Amino acid sequence: KQLTSVEVRQMYLDFFKSRGHRIEPSASLVPVEDPTLLWINSGVATLKKYFDGTVVPENPRITNAQKSIRTNDIENVGKTARHHTMFEMLGNFSIGDYFKKEAIHWAWELLTSEEWFALDKSKLYVTVYPEDKEARRIWHEEIGLPQESIIDIEDNFWDIGAGPCGPDSEIFYDRGQSFNDVAEDDPENYPGGENERYLEIWNLVFSEFNHTENHEYEPLPQKNIDTGMGLERMVSIFQDAPTNFETDLFLPIIHATEEMSRDKKYDDDLATKTSFKVIADHVRAVSFAIGDGALPSNEGRGYVLRRLLRRAVMHGKKLGIDEAFLYKLVPVVGKIMESYYPEVLEKQDFIQKIIKTEEERFHETINDGLQIITDLIASLKQEGKDTLEGKDIFKLYDTYGFPVELTEEMAEEEGLKVDHDGFEVEMTAQRDRARAARSTENSMNVQSAVLGEIKVDSEFIGYDATEAEAKLL
Ligand code: ATP
Ligand code: MG
Ligand code: MG
Ligand code: MG
Repeated sequence: KQLTSVEVRQMYLDFFKSRGHRIEPSASLVPVEDPTLLWINSGVATLKKYFDGTVVPENPRITNAQKSIRTNDIENVGKTARHHTMFEMLGNFSIGDYFKKEAIHWAWELLTSEEWFALDKSKLYVTVYPEDKEARRIWHEEIGLPQESIIDIEDNFWDIGAGPCGPDSEIFYDRGQSFNDVAEDDPENYPGGENERYLEIWNLVFSEFNHTENHEYEPLPQKNIDTGMGLERMVSIFQDAPTNFETDLFLPIIHATEEMSRDKKYDDDLATKTSFKVIADHVRAVSFAIGDGALPSNEGRGYVLRRLLRRAVMHGKKLGIDEAFLYKLVPVVGKIMESYYPEVLEKQDFIQKIIKTEEERFHETINDGLQIITDLIASLKQEGKDTLEGKDIFKLYDTYGFPVELTEEMAEEEGLKVDHDGFEVEMTAQRDRARAARSTENSMNVQSAVLGEIKVDSEFIGYDATEAEAKLL
């Protein structure tokens, strides 16, 4: 089947609506009254109030398409075929209503029925938690999947330490041998392994235990279902795209960028392609995040935005774009998403203004940094030195936000060696300092009502503390 992104999203919601679910609109990317999260990172994140019982939903069956941001995937963007910073998660949820059997049957029907997604059954694989014999039995006996297509995975257990938890079952689509980026005999060459052939499309979480204070798992009186399907990945399947980027969700952004890059084109080479992908991804995330009320700054959420904007600007530079340009892509993003998310077009002027200002400021910073590197390299050469020291790389990075790869690249082009290990030592020292500062900050603010916010915000500087986000779903 050929389907547009608009059709895929709608088909998912329609299917679950026809199975008694109420369609819940996407919530803001910025969590409301939830200090434990920096960004909404999954469909279930906005529905916590129902799962923890603080609010009783009008209908125990809910479906949604939820914009989500995952900072733990920043480095993956453009490298893998399937990761974004901002993506949409399609989900169906049962708050103490239906459970495993229905969740699996409906997932299979939506994916394979001619009326719906009509995927080829023989290309689908699932993973289950080894002890979850019930899930394996349903997939095998009731759905008819051969045992070889059902893979035991020890990690398939969703558990955040205390509270509801349970096994999950993930669904993979086999894109075929030509997508295999690992060898046939590589231990990762299976559905669930780190490879590009078997694409993870959907995660079904069966929340059936309560993880108690004493670390016991007792059955929940009221069992829940929480699922998440990646819209962009599904669209890549329906549009026969080698990665999520060659779809109607990203191509218009890429084409608009091509018009601004001098002689670089998307298909030139791998590095160029990656730059286009990073720009398309980041401008989408930033446009939506600003539309939802986040602003670039030096900490927390704002820091994530600043980093995304700067990364995109640097990739723009690689494409020969030397002036502010990201802001010009905002209307393109807005138009693509208009039918389900009118907010970007509605707030376009404001979003563009924020992005443009931030881009211009960063360009000044870069130019200052460039001058400093050039001078530094010249004086090192004059002194007969052959290495750019780690502390200098660090200073450029820390003070000017100058990307490490760029500093190193420039030094190497001038025939200097770079002390990358020395740079890492400085980075580690800085992280330790930040950590120490954080713990005093926290202990000083124990009585403060905003403690949660402060802690979460500062934890995310440096992108190394996103475990909690990554684990939700
Ligand atoms: P992966 O293993 O590919 O990183 P995941 O196991 O981390 O995915 P889940 O937490 O299970 O992902 O999220 C549910 C679904 O959301 C995934 O099956 C996938 O379709 C989609 N998804 C997750 N992370 C991303 C992302 N960064 N970009 C796009 N889609 C994503
Ligand atoms: Mg996974
Ligand atoms: Mg998963
Ligand atoms: Mg992941």
